[in-house]
Amino acid sequence: MTENPFFKPSSLVYELPPFAAIRPEHYLPAYERGMAEQLAEIAAITADPQPPTVDNTLVALERSGELLRRVDAVFRNQSASDTSELVDEVDAEVSPLLAAHHDAIHLDRALFARIEELYGRRAELGLDPESLRLLETRHIRFVRSGARLGEAEQARLRGLNAELAALGTTFQQNVNAATKAAALVVDTAEELDGLSADAVAAAAENARVLGHEGRFVLSLKSTSGQPELALLTDRSVRERLLAASLGRGAAVNGPLAIRMAALRAERAALLGHPSHAAYVVEDETAGTVEAVSGLLARLVGPAVANARREAAELAKVAAADGIEEIAAHDWAYYSEKVRQESYQVDAAVLRPYFELERVLHDGVFLAAKLAYGLTFTERPDLTAYHPDARVFEVFEEDGGSLGLFIGDFHARASKRGGAWMDELVGQSGLTGRRPVVLNNLNIARPAPGEPVLLAWDEVRTLFHEFGHALHGLFSDVRYPLFAGTAVPRDFVEFPSQVNEMWMVRPEVVASYARHHVTGEPLPAALVERMVAAEGFGEGFRTVEYLAATLLDWAWHTVPQGGEIEDAEEFEARVLAEAGIAVPAIPPRYRTAYFQHIFSSGYSAGYYAYIWSEVLDADTVQWFEGNGRPVRESGELFRRELLARGFSRDPLESFRAVVGRAPEIGPLLARRGLV
Ligand SMILES: [Zn+2]
Repeated sequence: MTENPFFKPSSLVYELPPFAAIRPEHYLPAYERGMAEQLAEIAAITADPQPPTVDNTLVALERSGELLRRVDAVFRNQSASDTSELVDEVDAEVSPLLAAHHDAIHLDRALFARIEELYGRRAELGLDPESLRLLETRHIRFVRSGARLGEAEQARLRGLNAELAALGTTFQQNVNAATKAAALVVDTAEELDGLSADAVAAAAENARVLGHEGRFVLSLKSTSGQPELALLTDRSVRERLLAASLGRGAAVNGPLAIRMAALRAERAALLGHPSHAAYVVEDETAGTVEAVSGLLARLVGPAVANARREAAELAKVAAADGIEEIAAHDWAYYSEKVRQESYQVDAAVLRPYFELERVLHDGVFLAAKLAYGLTFTERPDLTAYHPDARVFEVFEEDGGSLGLFIGDFHARASKRGGAWMDELVGQSGLTGRRPVVLNNLNIARPAPGEPVLLAWDEVRTLFHEFGHALHGLFSDVRYPLFAGTAVPRDFVEFPSQVNEMWMVRPEVVASYARHHVTGEPLPAALVERMVAAEGFGEGFRTVEYLAATLLDWAWHTVPQGGEIEDAEEFEARVLAEAGIAVPAIPPRYRTAYFQHIFSSGYSAGYYAYIWSEVLDADTVQWFEGNGRPVRESGELFRRELLARGFSRDPLESFRAVVGRAPEIGPLLARRGLV
């Protein structure tokens, strides 16, 4: 066996990982050696006979764990975007090891003693602001990780963390298996009436691959709602499709959710908090459970009222089909009809104007040029982790290079659902590294030779994820701990949401939205109608989102010992009590497939999207109304906010841009909640 490629720093440009040399069997040995190396580095810190200084303790800690960082970045990405049975096995094996490793560092009494000592003298140390923040942030994280607990409590904490890590991995793997198993199989093409010929052909091909030759298979997306629901004319097929989606995983993951919620509540109590949610938000910009509950409570009533108004409109159209009451499986279908009739926009008419390459270059990249002066050059000479993943080098206005952006846009069986940004190399002045970031989407691959035409929502997703990418690319901090997107979860969605505004800016849309055959621009009137039509769906979208958020919140505000017996019964009761139970609008995720909160680190954090959106809507208004040229606003946003990462209080960064604290008005207006 050749040398493990993780053992040495990459010699490629930007330290791009040497993907061509990486094999799944390299992961486990690299993880093991990486953890051992970091523990040895920490032992050296605590063995230092010199009294603690920021340099010999905190900066040394920042420099530690290089090998672990290298392998973990590559592995995390692979397990999300190109997994395999072997990778899943490594994941299951590594998750508890990583949890234990985190504990080994944060429960190291000698290390914490040095940090505690420095923290006590922090005012006298004459530190620059970023170093002071490093000391304070590390100190808080050690305390929150149990550094002050006694021996027996720490032992229990280690046990809880290990079990939670293992359960999180199992939950995720159950979701993957249940989602595959619940795919809808139909016997005839007639049952798929309403789908395009391409989509029917794709369903036939999907069936062939999955061993149902001669039939048709609709695979499920990660959310409750499925895109085909808007199109399928056969009501019973819609009903079966939605039932398959809503029912997946309940038997296996319901009990897991109960167990995880109980363990999290116990851990929170051990660390001195009344609930897991209280523990989580202490470290977020929200700060308290009351702040989050208050925002959610304020939004529920108006959102439900909105949704009811939408339902009444749908009912009028559905009555013509003899449907007396709109069911959940009818909502998207009749929404689409109302959109077409009342707003005269047909989603299918838009697609030919949204060709992927054009949207990417003349939309997403163009907006980054207008606002920040960036340019992009594809580097086919650089190999990423999968043939679909394309590498671009990013340049500043003055020609200087900034970092690498990897775009991996297509769906494949080995990729999980949804869309996300990740980082392979984080920026840091201390290490001299520049960022390598990536975006993953799940755009269906067209038939060979056909152009990739996007739906309106996919265009939005492309802009959104690229907003995260910019946050990573613009990072300009000294310490790795603070780089780019390493901000609180209830802040991190904000820059990506802001980037969505470019999608409908006239100068941007005129550039990217052109018919892929004729080159004709998308008529401006159509864009306006589409934006107006989006307002129409806000009731539904806000309710399905809030329902999922309240579900997350309920699972994690349960105090220790608050036994939950049945996950589905709990879910129904919670939604009813919150006043968000609209029978025709299921939560965006139900408990059994709510990966965000049971396996992806968003527990008690799903509220973050709407919390961030308060900042987003406010900032978009600032961009539009501040009277500055776009390029100047962009520069200010970059310098004062994106570049800062977590190296200062994120709300201070917000104030440095907008000139005041965030206000909720623009969000309420945008979502039709006033
Ligand atoms: Zn996002």
